[in-house]
Amino acid sequence: MIQTAVTTRFAPSPTGLLHLGHVYAAKVAQDLARSHSGEYLLRFEDIDTSRTREHFYQAILDDLDWLGIQHDQEPIRQTDRLPQYTAAVQSLQDLGVLYPCFCTRKDISRELSHITNAPHGPEGTLYAQTCRNLSPDQIDHYLQQGKTPSWRLNTSKAKSLTSAISFDDEIHGKINVDHDLLGDVILSRKDIGTSYHIAVVVDDAFQNISHVTRGEDLLPSTHIHTILQKLLKLPQPSYQHHRLINDDCGERLAKRNAPLSIQALREQGHTSEQVLAMIMV
Ligand code: GLU
Repeated sequence: MIQTAVTTRFAPSPTGLLHLGHVYAAKVAQDLARSHSGEYLLRFEDIDTSRTREHFYQAILDDLDWLGIQHDQEPIRQTDRLPQYTAAVQSLQDLGVLYPCFCTRKDISRELSHITNAPHGPEGTLYAQTCRNLSPDQIDHYLQQGKTPSWRLNTSKAKSLTSAISFDDEIHGKINVDHDLLGDVILSRKDIGTSYHIAVVVDDAFQNISHVTRGEDLLPSTHIHTILQKLLKLPQPSYQHHRLINDDCGERLAKRNAPLSIQALREQGHTSEQVLAMIMV
């Protein structure tokens, strides 16, 4: 029997302290790798430099170490890999599936206020495709004004290139990709020249991730990731979008729940075994 290697990853953003939800995500990834004698990797998703803070990298490493959740290999930082993301954006531009968008947040809300029944996706109102059909002259005009565009996915063009595609989720089953689910999403932000979607598919391929495990809040994003893997000819991993850990009131844990950070729990005198037990519900 051919045994394919299992490689998983935990990909926290160093924008805050780890909480129980992160620990659950890390444990799911680590347990899956260990049960197949595979590798469990760590990746810092730090492209949003306006929100990352240097001390959180070490705090995350310290928390994982204290919990005994040990990763294999050196962790990678996405900020070390910006040229790889630029190359991916360039490939998509060459395919003609991206278009420059000069809209500001204000423009977008003004535009939406004129539309009745604006289409909604799982993450809110979809972009009204205002810049989809700009003429070369209009684009030149904006560029001459010194405006930097973001680059959006033209979902119609993407659909015509990928045709019908799907991904496999170990919990949710086979899922057919809905190209329009998130609309014409931004794939290259004007401030950082990339996006979560680009960086994650490039890195999952680079780190040979066979199984992507993450919270079910990211299930809609996987529709975009599958499209990108197909367009960029990257391998397609298996997925496992697991449940999210809620607090005592049934609310989703967020980083602002500072008292529930692992650091706070440790300072309150909990042992690592007790903290791990809190997520085994
Ligand atoms: N960085 C994301 C988070 O902290 C995880 C993204 C992923 O696993 O693809 O929620």
